[in-house]
Amino acid sequence: MNNPGLWEEFLRGSLSGIEAEGLLRSLRVLGSPQSAHVEIGGRALVNFSSNDYLGLANHPALHEAAIRELKDGGFGSGSSRLICGTLAAHERLESAVAALKGTEASLSFSSGYAAAMGTIPAICSKDDVIILDKLCHACLVDAARLSEARMRVFPHNDLDRLESHLRWARKSHPGSRVLVLAESVYSMDGDLAPLRGIVDLKDRHGAWLFLDEAHGVGVIGADGRGLANTEGVADRVEIQMGTFGKALGAHGAYIAGSRLLRDFLINRARSLIFSTAPPAPVAAAAEKAVEILSSAEGRQLVGALHENLHQLESAMQISAPRSAIVPLIIGKERDAADASSRLLKSGFFVPAIRYPAVAKGAARLRLTLSAAHRKADIAALSGVLRDCQAPAPVCEPAAGGGPCGGLS
Ligand SMILES: *Cc1c(COP(=O)(O)O)cnc(C)c1O
Repeated sequence: MNNPGLWEEFLRGSLSGIEAEGLLRSLRVLGSPQSAHVEIGGRALVNFSSNDYLGLANHPALHEAAIRELKDGGFGSGSSRLICGTLAAHERLESAVAALKGTEASLSFSSGYAAAMGTIPAICSKDDVIILDKLCHACLVDAARLSEARMRVFPHNDLDRLESHLRWARKSHPGSRVLVLAESVYSMDGDLAPLRGIVDLKDRHGAWLFLDEAHGVGVIGADGRGLANTEGVADRVEIQMGTFGKALGAHGAYIAGSRLLRDFLINRARSLIFSTAPPAPVAAAAEKAVEILSSAEGRQLVGALHENLHQLESAMQISAPRSAIVPLIIGKERDAADASSRLLKSGFFVPAIRYPAVAKGAARLRLTLSAAHRKADIAALSGVLRDCQAPAPVCEPAAGGGPCGGLS
């Protein structure tokens, strides 16, 4: 028997359940472009919520590159790159990324989510083993699940447990390929992976490493090339992923590695093969952002971001931020949402991050800084955070939780 009310009941019931837990979300429409200063509902706000860490999202050079490409290379790409010919803009972007990362090759995808979902299930299947950090981004978790590989999760940044999983994999599945998934900067805690330790371990046990640098590129290192380069281990990370939509201010993502890897993914990554390529102007804007990052201007922007982080550190007397993401752990979901609303009333856009992005009971304000923030913006925010009645912010990453525990 078909009951047409069943579906509506399900949707309505789910939403009221979400609301009862203090987890209901809605979309806020901006009345301005995305930048360090935005307008929402007619009010001017200082924006501490965006991943536009270098203020490139509306950089005039990115606009110009996109417009030029629109005129010369057109807009729509027509199909998947394998079907109707690939546009020059994508190839140029990929050469620029390979040069930035110092790899043989790179391949671009329409998003970071698509890069993970295309790459991980292409290289791993049910006979393989994937070992991932508990706080890995949802797209890595989803991709690992889709691959049907055996999955083992290690507690966040716990090298001992990573090693015991690697030992287990070698012993119990001697013929399997083993892939370790980690991020350089964890997106909700802003802390860094113990990358050299991870690289040593995966080398010792004959595994490969997939490193997601979504929040590392443009942020880590004086030149903003990311954690793998800064730690001097880039040539030992087999698969480096990064996105164009965060510090690089554009859209899309890359996988950087060997030419062999690129050739393989062109033939096997389903999110590339079965999906229309992004518009050429988007690729041209991303290429311009990579060019800026590699230039003196890029160094200056990364320097300005780091200075802003130092200012926040001393104004709020918190431990030195390791990245552009500064979590202020609150605890209860509703308290975090209330703190965020209070900040909004004072003119600051600081999102409350709640389950399932983080563990239940580990809700937080997630501040993100940009090179585009002014000294006065940071001073004003620190003042309000000190004065507001929000529970005292603690800059400690929460244990447990994360997409591995939450999303299904
Ligand atoms: C944002 C993000 C992604 C996804 O990238 P998109 O281009 O936004 O799809 C992947 N991994 C991490 C760690 C991220 O923060």
